[in-house]
This record gives sequence, structure tokens and C-alpha cells, in this order.
Amino acid sequence: MKPRDRLRIAMQKSGRLTDPAQELLARCGLKFRQSRDKLFCFGEGEPVDLLLVRDDDIPGLIAEGVCDMGIVGRNVLREYQYSHPEEGVALDELRPLGFGRCRLSIALPQDEAYDSPSQLNGQRIATSYPGLLGEWLRSNGVGAKVVYLAGSVEIAPRLGTADAICDLVSSGATLVANQLRETAILVESEAVLAGRSELPTDERGEIAELLLRRLDGVIQVRDSRLILLQAPRDALAEITSLLPGLPVPTLTAVDGAPDQVVVQALCAGSVSWRQLEDMKRAGARDMLVLPVEKMLA
Ligand code: ATP
Ligand code: ZN
Repeated sequence: MKPRDRLRIAMQKSGRLTDPAQELLARCGLKFRQSRDKLFCFGEGEPVDLLLVRDDDIPGLIAEGVCDMGIVGRNVLREYQYSHPEEGVALDELRPLGFGRCRLSIALPQDEAYDSPSQLNGQRIATSYPGLLGEWLRSNGVGAKVVYLAGSVEIAPRLGTADAICDLVSSGATLVANQLRETAILVESEAVLAGRSELPTDERGEIAELLLRRLDGVIQVRDSRLILLQAPRDALAEITSLLPGLPVPTLTAVDGAPDQVVVQALCAGSVSWRQLEDMKRAGARDMLVLPVEKMLA
């Protein structure tokens, strides 16, 4: 294969992960020219190109070296690693991305009680995740039959082709609609940036590091708020103890008011009205809560 001097990232062409993945890359400063066949998107500005594919193909494309990284559900990455143990060891979860959250769970017909994995002994379990389910059954010492289905797993118990299912759940509405109940959780999933355990040693390695730094800057502050307020010096201890996440604030003197300071702090998570009102009661005023777009330490 010809060496590449541009980084190539695979992402889902059309599905739940497409929009949030595209938005995340845009926030990292990456722009793409969309090609007509929409399989390959040339990156403008940074030397990073996109490959738009089915999510299930992403781990294999990384393992084969066609792509350097990919944005894919942890469920799909782990399934590949269990079902392709040789190629799978070279792959890693580089960063969790905080969207596409769901669970891979076992679900049983609603009227069946569940108390432990051992009750699945001898049962037929339908799934699109035979690798992950097989591993869970082995580690729990359960002998069940894995029935592979590529899709519509949730109707298998009603059709009589399985006794239970192992499928992705987010709100649980699909399970309820099919008279099923979630029991054991096998994987807590979200979208991840997947890549080879070792970054490329050529120019692509440097581009990958740049991308990871930018991603960290976006992810770290995505749920953060910058809070600005003015406070009397003697109320400072109480007010800073009320700041969500207890950040270390920066203090600035106020000209002409030696008993006052301006407090600036980066809070993890949102700041509620209740918290602002508590700080106001403690003496704070002119409070501003601002979203944070980027951070480079
Ligand atoms: P493709 O055509 O790319 O194969 P797909 O039908 O396999 O698409 P989607 O349904 O778009 O894929 O799901 C993509 C990923 O979104 C899943 O692998 C999972 O990580 C995540 N996800 C989040 N919530 C859910 C859910 N309720 N059901 C299925 N996937 C979910
Ligand atoms: Zn898929």
C-alpha cells in the first residue's frame, strides 16, 4: 500500500452517529469538501480526510490500514475485537466521545422473572452481537444457544425463534413495544474514537496528535461553564465553596473598591438558578454564566 501523508477517518455514512460525529469534527476545526459519491470527503485546511461507510465496517477498515481512525459505537468496536481476536488486538478506544449512548442488554419476555445469568442455561438468545454475547455467556458459565440475526432481533421471541434477545437499548421503548424487559447489561456503550493502539510514526502521527489535542479541548469543555461574578472579599470562602465542581477560581482586584474582587471560574457541568441564588445570598453580584467553546491548556 502506498504510504499516505494525510490522516483518514472513517465515520458512519448515514445513521445515529452521523450528525454528532460531523459536528464534533467541525468543532475540532475540520472542514470537508463533499464528493459526489459521498464515500470520500477531502479535508480542506487540515490534512484529514473522511470515509463515509456503514458503522460495522469501521473497525475492519482501521485494522486493515485503509483508515487511521474511526468514530464508532463501543458496541461495534468490541464486537469486532471478540469476533476477530487476531486483528482486534491492534485496535484501541482512543477517546470516549459522549454521544450515541446506549446499552447492550439481555431482554426477556415481560412476564418472565429474572434473577441470575444461570437461568439462561439451555435458552436460545437472538442477537446481532454473537462475539460479545458469547464472551459474556462464557464468563458467566452459561450454556445458551446464540441465534445470529442481522436485524429485527426484538421480534424473535414473538416469532418463537428465540427465548430471549441481546440487543441495543436506549430509551427502552422498542422493548416495551415488543413486550420485553431489559435484564443484564453487557456493555454501556457510547461513540468512541477508535484507532490502532500505536499511532502512525510518519506525518500522520503528528496530525493524529493534533486532532487528539483538539478533541480533548472540545470534549473537556463541552459541558463546562465559565462563571464570572463580583464578591466582597470576606464572602469569598463561602461563595467559592458554592461553585459547582469546586474549581480553583482566578481573582481580580476591583479598582476603587479594595473590599471587592471579581471571581472567574471554570465549572464542570451546568450552573443552576438555585446555585446562582445561593451565591447571591452569600454576597455575590453581577453574575454571568457563559458556555465554553474551546480550550487549549
Ligand atoms: P449502518 O447502516 O451504518 O450499519 P446501523 O443501523 O447499524 O447503521 P444505527 O442504528 O444508526 O446503525 O446505530 C449506530 C450506533 O448508534 C449503534 O451501533 C450504537 O452504538 C448507537 N446507538 C445509540 N442508541 C441506539 C439504539 N437505541 N439502537 C441502536 N443503536 C443505538
Ligand atoms: Zn450497522
